[in-house]
Amino acid sequence: MVGREMREEQSVGLYRTADGHPIRLFATVGNLEEAVDALQSDVAGIGLFQSEFLYHNQERLPSETEQCEIYASVLQQANDRPVVIRTLDISKLKKADFLSMPPEENPSLGSRAIRFSLSHPEIFQTQLRALLRAGRYGRAGLLFPMIENVSEIRDVKQCLQESMETLLQQRLPYAEHVPIGLIVETPAAALMADLLAVHVDFLVVGINDLTQYTLAADRGNDRVAYLYDAAHPAVLRLAQQVCQAAHRVGIPVGVCGALAEDTEMTEALIGLGFDAFCITPKAVSSVAARIAQAHLWVASELASRVLERESASDVRTVIRGKGPET
Ligand code: PEP
Ligand code: MG
Repeated sequence: MVGREMREEQSVGLYRTADGHPIRLFATVGNLEEAVDALQSDVAGIGLFQSEFLYHNQERLPSETEQCEIYASVLQQANDRPVVIRTLDISKLKKADFLSMPPEENPSLGSRAIRFSLSHPEIFQTQLRALLRAGRYGRAGLLFPMIENVSEIRDVKQCLQESMETLLQQRLPYAEHVPIGLIVETPAAALMADLLAVHVDFLVVGINDLTQYTLAADRGNDRVAYLYDAAHPAVLRLAQQVCQAAHRVGIPVGVCGALAEDTEMTEALIGLGFDAFCITPKAVSSVAARIAQAHLWVASELASRVLERESASDVRTVIRGKGPET
């Protein structure tokens, strides 16, 4: 999933539908131990290495060297499989206690993820330099959370450029070509995916957040949990747009978040056009089994049908084979 150069010969983590359509399964992990464990399983690599653990429950910011050592150790253990590291995604659910962030009335709509990183260039560039240095030890990819407009990608690229210049001045070796991707997590990003896709090497749909923002239902609030279902046709329509935009410019597109491991939805997600799923390692065997049973043409037809339904529960009814044909 880390760009056009995804090596065809790499078969680990490559699964096929019953009619031969390839789908890659990558691991989602939240810390070093999970990453090491995940690499023992039959995954194409790590598709989402969440870096918040480096900042969570700490008394100070992680240094460039500390971060670099952790990323490098995962890259070395990945043994030429890609490891896609997501830059800091501070949010309401993923706090960094020592980063005294002023309270916000609507934290989910506030200074989180890439917004936080771009407004804290010291913290961001320390992470970028660590990632660039570690990139020499394997096939790293960089993933930027919650980007929703092209100017943010330009700013990210500018920060990457400055990080490289600093490393050059310090005579510290680094990887010059690291594929970059973004997580589509807002309706704005999904609707603009054609304009965003031309600037990156791969896209990932973050279906947890895409659901929260599309349905305006806080993913952590039980009182609106009845509204929060990623199988909602509005979310799936946006996801399909992202797949189409990625394919139009010849880059791969993955899906991460809870829906990616909901085996009831595997066939529909294949039909929407996803090339890769980022899932927790425990879900690999069940998702792989569903892929093996699926047929691409059936999946495409199923995807078209669910996109016409009125609600998430209608979608699930169709998927369970109980719904009407149209
Ligand atoms: C997502 O939003 O779908 C995602 C995988 O990111 P997180 O759940 O970490 O916000
Ligand atoms: Mg997210």
